[in-house]
Amino acid sequence: MLKAMQTSHFAPRHFLPETIDLTDTAQLAPVFDQLSAKLDAVQSSADVEAWLRDHSEVSAALGESSSVAYIAMTCQTDDEAKEKAYMHIVEVVDPWLKPRQFALMQKLASSPFFAQLPPLYDVFRRSVETQVKLYREENVARETAVAKLTQQYQKISGAMTVQFDGQEQTLPRISRVQEEPDRARREAAWKLVAERRRQDADKLEELYGQLLVLRNEIAHAAGFADFRAYTFASYERFDYTPEDCLRFHDAVEHHIVPLARELQEERRKKLGLDRLRPWDLAVDPDQNPPLHPFKESPELLAKCHEIFATLDPRLGEYYHVLRSQELVDLDNRKGKAPGGYQSTLPESRVPFIFMNAVGAHRDVEVMLHEAGHAFHALASREQPLHAYRSAPIEFCEVASMGMELLAAPHLGAFYDENEAKRAQRDHLEGIIKFFPWMATVDAFQHWIYTHPTHTREERTAFWLSLMDRFGGTEDWSGFASARANLWHRQLHIFEIPFYYVEYGIAQLGALQLWQASRRDLPATLDHYLKGLSLGGSRPLPELFEASGLKFDFTDKTIAPLMRNVKDALLELAC
Ligand SMILES: [Zn+2]
Repeated sequence: MLKAMQTSHFAPRHFLPETIDLTDTAQLAPVFDQLSAKLDAVQSSADVEAWLRDHSEVSAALGESSSVAYIAMTCQTDDEAKEKAYMHIVEVVDPWLKPRQFALMQKLASSPFFAQLPPLYDVFRRSVETQVKLYREENVARETAVAKLTQQYQKISGAMTVQFDGQEQTLPRISRVQEEPDRARREAAWKLVAERRRQDADKLEELYGQLLVLRNEIAHAAGFADFRAYTFASYERFDYTPEDCLRFHDAVEHHIVPLARELQEERRKKLGLDRLRPWDLAVDPDQNPPLHPFKESPELLAKCHEIFATLDPRLGEYYHVLRSQELVDLDNRKGKAPGGYQSTLPESRVPFIFMNAVGAHRDVEVMLHEAGHAFHALASREQPLHAYRSAPIEFCEVASMGMELLAAPHLGAFYDENEAKRAQRDHLEGIIKFFPWMATVDAFQHWIYTHPTHTREERTAFWLSLMDRFGGTEDWSGFASARANLWHRQLHIFEIPFYYVEYGIAQLGALQLWQASRRDLPATLDHYLKGLSLGGSRPLPELFEASGLKFDFTDKTIAPLMRNVKDALLELAC
């Protein structure tokens, strides 16, 4: 942690003074004035390139200043000074920066030399042009209103608690009961949660209705027919269309839903039940106790290092960078923020991994996943443009989910043979279960935003039709309203509309990597690292192609992948 904060710049600064305080807007003002004046003075595309290097240096330094403050705060939430420092960036620096950054992008886009930049800048250019094209002054107030409503969603959801085991419990906490073997306890806990959610159902429906009005207005103001078209543009989804997503849903329905239902049937038999109920879906069907892969986090680090070094010496080297520079904070302790993330220090060009490890299998999964993101950051650190040192999420998650799958055959570092098989099986089953839910959440929103005048009843009816189309075989009788309101718990639907299919697209890439690795591991890792090294400098299909993967989410790719997953599950059956 300490060392991480002292990492040196990957490349020396040429434009920004070494001593500048990047959290002081009075010191930042002359930097932005200078950037603006330099941009006014460009006489050629070479001048624009030089300007982009300066701009990139500034944005990387600002990014690092913000990352460092965020990391410091999350590692020690009970330190008020750290929280204050981070909040100063969020509340003072960022709002000051945003309009200035945007003004620079506007000026850049209008420069006649911008269009003459060499092809290397194509991806960057289309991104800048899109940002400028979508911007509407009148939408700023609407965006603020949307942000306030989504905060409202967090507040309502976060405040939900139930009384269980004689104490008040949050919903994430009580959800753990669903993994317990005692069926009566699972049922009781599940019913409490369903009832608690029902109490706020009207509130959430109303809130969602308000969000839809604002989002439709934003889309129209920006000149789009509907919010779906607007979002595809604003998320810079240049390489796939809404129709591609609809075809993806179809392919999930035909090739993955039947497999997910087969797995449910196996679960039903193993549990010895006539029918599965909603509280029978998370418990281990063999009633095994939870896995215990390690005791202390140094063991987690050492064993993961062993796995990566076995997979490929280059990965071993990257992991060594993380360990030797202490770019990790793994242990769960008092005063630390919950969860796990991977962050990048863009000026030092190194990653940082944050976790709350307690010795559970989930910790191994999180480490393998976040290490994939960290490898991405290290592999792409030579990219000169700051904007190119990160890739679109559809590919970032190939790096991380792919690493989870590539590392899976080496879980013997933590487990005996049967445990390792069980972990791999759970992993693959989890992937299969994810796709139908992803398709449900995505298809729902395609309908919502292309039927802007729908009523709440129509919305519910459509949701239920999707539950029939993609859902499992469990019996919901007696809980019709819980089934109808199931989407209320998916925060993306409220907070980050349409942002979910990315994980499906990435998981297909990750599965292709896994499939290729079963044929030729060294070649697969060459491809993997080649793709990662490109950062975000190429369009998505090219990033996939460089990694030896198809950017395709139709039957053609999905059907054979699912056959392989099914075979692998058979091999892993005990
Ligand atoms: Zn991730």
